[in-house]
Amino acid sequence: MSNTKQTSLVNSSTFQYEDSIDFAIAMDVEDPLRQYRNQFFIPAAGDRKECIYLAGNSLGLQPRKARTYIEQELDDWANLGVEGHFDAKHPWLPYHENLTDMSARIVGAKPSEVVVMNTLTVNLHLMMVSFYRPTKERYKIVTESGAFPSDQYAVASQAKFHGYKPEDAVVELTPRDGESTLRTEDILSLIDKDGDKIALIVLGDVNYLTGQAFEVEKIAHAARLKGCNIGLNLAHGAGNLLLKLHDWDVDFAVWCTYKYLNAGPGGLAGCFVHERHATSFDLPRFAGWWGHNKKNRFKMGPDFDPIPGAEGWQLSNPPIFQLAALRASLEIFDAATMPAIRQKSEKITGYLEYLLHQLPPGFCSIITPQNPDERGSQLSIRLTKDPHEMLTALKKEGAICDFRNPDIIRATPIPLYVKYQDVFDFAKILARFAS
Ligand SMILES: *Cc1c(COP(=O)(O)O)cnc(C)c1O
Repeated sequence: MSNTKQTSLVNSSTFQYEDSIDFAIAMDVEDPLRQYRNQFFIPAAGDRKECIYLAGNSLGLQPRKARTYIEQELDDWANLGVEGHFDAKHPWLPYHENLTDMSARIVGAKPSEVVVMNTLTVNLHLMMVSFYRPTKERYKIVTESGAFPSDQYAVASQAKFHGYKPEDAVVELTPRDGESTLRTEDILSLIDKDGDKIALIVLGDVNYLTGQAFEVEKIAHAARLKGCNIGLNLAHGAGNLLLKLHDWDVDFAVWCTYKYLNAGPGGLAGCFVHERHATSFDLPRFAGWWGHNKKNRFKMGPDFDPIPGAEGWQLSNPPIFQLAALRASLEIFDAATMPAIRQKSEKITGYLEYLLHQLPPGFCSIITPQNPDERGSQLSIRLTKDPHEMLTALKKEGAICDFRNPDIIRATPIPLYVKYQDVFDFAKILARFAS
């Protein structure tokens, strides 16, 4: 797909993988990102002091620096009290600004287009307040069928809020009979056919269940032509795929930071608002004092004077400890760089896929697309054995994956801290269960 084509450096048909421990070790030795694993805490599991952690798409591991950065803020609070807003080593008043440039690089945006604030579903609602503006002729919201439940509730409740029945207003994109992932051509033809009735399209850029990455650029272009707004939920895209939110010209995007971005449980979320809307002050928005002009925020006047750009959508002064944890992780991303992360992601996920294909026939099927351009790090797997029993058994052997209804095991070799040898060991554990 066009958003990642330029980085398809690993073509599994030309890249020669080998089903051997020596090969896996050699890949680790040559891995340009190998030094970053040491910057994370790797949990123990089973007999392994360092487990095979394949659940970073659910909760990323803790950067070693997170504690130091949080402790700095605890110390400054202890020693300075309220003065910490100005006098802390990293003053709290503008603390979120420390994250802006790094976040912008991760999602391919200009700094003025991004802000870290609130949590994901909150940001999704705030964005829909501004970008779901239904009219009598144009009131439909298009989403994926089987979208993450929170997104479904958010979208349906927004339709209701505007007086529409979700059954009527929400249009779900559904894979064809017998297929488990969506075809771009079907999404485009829906937009082409019904675009005049569509007020907003909300898509994940990677589906949380199937691991399918969408051809966002084409979809966004089609949406523009038909005058539909489009927003992305990057919960499984930020820190995983190469993103170009500005160039793709999407209206907004939201993402959580506790999955691929390792900010810790309940970590803060990111929000992108395209530059086109930076000064669209006539758009309805729910306002709070942190979105108000920084120069006179503390004058405490009654009239809301929004900051141009994404920051203007902020509500509250943000939780500094959470920002500190996220800062520790984003610094690692900034050092490693997204192109290098994506390059390893394609290689190591390709290796996992290759090894799964070596398992006895029929034991394991992969529902995630085979084309590296149509997926990120995650492979969604169906096994012939009961998935709950398998997860427990895997954990005993030191491997942590996760499960999603109805029968999917998700295995995600996160490039920053998973080794090729982990992937090899994982496949060997599965092979023992298969026989
Ligand atoms: C993880 C995830 C969420 C979680 O929402 P929170 O508001 O962070 O609890 C929502 N949507 C998608 C697609 C997700 O993957």
